[in-house]
Amino acid sequence: MTQMSLAKQGIFTREMELAIKNEEISKKEFLQKVAEGKIVIPANRNRKREKYFAIGDGTYVKINVNLGVSEACPNFDLERQKLELAKKFDVESVMDLSSGLDASNFRKYILQNYDFIVGTVPVYQVASRHDDITKVDSKEFIEEIERQAEEGVDFFTIHAGITRKALERLEKNERLLKIVSRGGALLYKWMMTNRKENPLYEHFDEILKICKKHDVTISLGDSLRPGAVYDATDALQIEELINLGELTKMAWKEDVQVMIEGPGHMRANEIAANMVIQKRLCHGAPFYVLGPLTTDIAAGYDHISGAMGALIAALNGADFLCYVTPAEHLRLPSLEDVKEGIVAFKIAAHSANIAKGFKKPLEKDIEMSVARRDLDWEKMISISVDPEKAREYRSSFTSETCSMCGRLCAVKNSRDETIL
Ligand code: SF4
Repeated sequence: MTQMSLAKQGIFTREMELAIKNEEISKKEFLQKVAEGKIVIPANRNRKREKYFAIGDGTYVKINVNLGVSEACPNFDLERQKLELAKKFDVESVMDLSSGLDASNFRKYILQNYDFIVGTVPVYQVASRHDDITKVDSKEFIEEIERQAEEGVDFFTIHAGITRKALERLEKNERLLKIVSRGGALLYKWMMTNRKENPLYEHFDEILKICKKHDVTISLGDSLRPGAVYDATDALQIEELINLGELTKMAWKEDVQVMIEGPGHMRANEIAANMVIQKRLCHGAPFYVLGPLTTDIAAGYDHISGAMGALIAALNGADFLCYVTPAEHLRLPSLEDVKEGIVAFKIAAHSANIAKGFKKPLEKDIEMSVARRDLDWEKMISISVDPEKAREYRSSFTSETCSMCGRLCAVKNSRDETIL
């Protein structure tokens, strides 16, 4: 039984109860949307958590943090600190993108010690075991998926949308950047060398059986997502989306929960239309976007470009935002990079939530404005998205007002004057 099949029977589970606890959606609407696939609750039944989260239509926009050990950075301690940072900022989900021989130990550590939704890309682990991905037997991909499902991973990125037909189109359509998805590029290489169909597409029914058994949510990966604003909304991206829509229907038939992954890089004026097309082609399944980055030139500041794109995306239907750090395209993110990425995307998600009409998030903004009116600095700091930074900035000035306008403080001068 998956959360989806239980919702279809009208059963309200413990996971649903916890997921809806802080939301503003009614139980009735929630159950209906879980049953229809418009909301997912990534909740592998092999791992009991104290916290669960819903992703999809009518719920708050959530964020995901990517991290993980790798051959270039086998530093468990640094990645552990990133997990603690994500916990401190109340992030809902982490994706363990670990590769290398320690990947499995790090994944188990997260699963045992944290209440986040945990997602992985099983193809990475397979690739870590082999010098040459093209030599991997297709069965090994499925075995890895089963292994991680048994361990308790809540959602998998499955790049099943890149098919041989899509590869033929890829050869005919000019792109600045061919494939920027790590998992997608590995499968592309495997398919090209072996002249075979994508094993994740060909064995999708087996993957569904595993995901149904353990209630793992599938996040259908977009191998052909645009990695350059110039490439966005091209035939390759849209054709893959059509495939993902068909795979979504297959999954729903088996009561397997599904999310759809999205771009990537995209000019700001194209984002809203892309969200509408995705929801239409993928039948309302929750949309999980990486950024999108609104320009390609923000190296060192891609968290800003990504957060701007994420806000537009969330206002037009995206439900789940994968953070981007200032280190994107340049290096593995440091702890400070991760913090900046988290803060940027917390701001994007919160801005979307208040614009979407949710009442509880807006109460925080009202509380902040009242504190500003009262020049109540302690209150302002405590409500801030990053209280430590707010305190550090404020600590350089101790008068009633701040150093921005000093004695010309507009708040004070307008507050203290009354018409007799
Ligand atoms: S001094 Fe200026 S910036 Fe600072 S609180 Fe007053 S009005 Fe706001």
